Amino acid sequence: MDAWARARMFQSYLDDQSEKGQWNYRLLTSSGCGPVIEMNGKKLISLVSNDYLGFTQHPAVKQAAVAGIMKYGAGAGASPAIGGHYDYHELLEKKIARFFRKEHAIIYTTGYTSNSASLQCILTKDDLVILDAGVHTSVMEGCQMVNRKTVKHNDLAAYEHILKMSAGKHPLLLVIIDGVFSQDGDLAPLKEIIALCKKYGAKLMVDDAHGTGVIGKTGRGLIEACDAWEDIDLITGTFSKTFGHIGGYVVAGEEMVNYLKYQSRQHLFSASSTPAALAIVKAIELVDEEPLWMSALHANIKYFRQGLLELGLNIGSTESAIFPVRIGDKIKNAKVCFALQQKGVYANQINYPAVSLKDARIRMGITARHEKAHLDEVLNHSYLNNED
Ligand code: PMP
Repeated sequence: MDAWARARMFQSYLDDQSEKGQWNYRLLTSSGCGPVIEMNGKKLISLVSNDYLGFTQHPAVKQAAVAGIMKYGAGAGASPAIGGHYDYHELLEKKIARFFRKEHAIIYTTGYTSNSASLQCILTKDDLVILDAGVHTSVMEGCQMVNRKTVKHNDLAAYEHILKMSAGKHPLLLVIIDGVFSQDGDLAPLKEIIALCKKYGAKLMVDDAHGTGVIGKTGRGLIEACDAWEDIDLITGTFSKTFGHIGGYVVAGEEMVNYLKYQSRQHLFSASSTPAALAIVKAIELVDEEPLWMSALHANIKYFRQGLLELGLNIGSTESAIFPVRIGDKIKNAKVCFALQQKGVYANQINYPAVSLKDARIRMGITARHEKAHLDEVLNHSYLNNED
């Protein structure tokens, strides 16, 4: 089947799902990202953003984006190697590196490419990459052409088994995990994985897209929570969640960062971030300057978690702002998601292949800007666990 025939087939699937009210993707929102959004003229409580500290709407962050555009214009005009590297990019690279107590970082225009592009550059076909089953698609994409072994989520015995079998047999053994996992909201057993990497001579990459700004005493994520500053070879993440904008980064040693700057194709041959990226610089500063947002987020996480548990819902072992309400069956999941929308709650349904077939869930994300009334409104819909 050529692509057009596949597209036709997909279209009939799309039409069928829409007719049944089971298609809940690319829904059109007509207001800004926030705890309440507008859809088809109706207000809904939103549990779909990763804007954990609410910085997409922070006046100082918005102001920094506007000031950046007024000073430098709307775009960078070129890729970094050939005229598109500005002082605001340099500033952002320094800021994000220092945020993680390091000196060197490279920025990408998306969090997705900070994983996929850096890995495509780092890995060769002789290397072996060992992935947790819960890592993001962008990581999987970066490892597509190389030897890889996927480990059952957080299964330390499986990590050890593969590392033991592979030690010394590849130029590079690279273990890749999330800090906070994006679908389960749980944490990696970082200390134990570091110990295994040291024991078997593997390097370690941690994508803490969902831990940054959320966990750790000052919001530096799982690396801070575990005091593992010296033990991670590659820290990756995104500017699209806590930092309220778009883009991503790899924080690493000087030589690796320079290698990526001149060898990573998607960085080298693609235009650099727009001057609105100065919003990120402000957002990074605000994590330290205004700790009240993290406190508000933590209070919300505690309250919502308690509420969901009191409803008897299965939320797995989340320890973050992500609440996976396990429904199990895909059809029922779609129905619950649709019913929630009818009642004024916008949450995402997560189905296979993002999670296994029996693990369909409603993914709810909490931010610092949700008010108790919003959370109560969601919790009042106890039919979330209704069998009908
Ligand atoms: N890593 C993880 C764990 C993610 O969940 C995501 C996206 N949600 C990304 C990377 C990609 O980041 P972005 O959406 O900013 O490109």
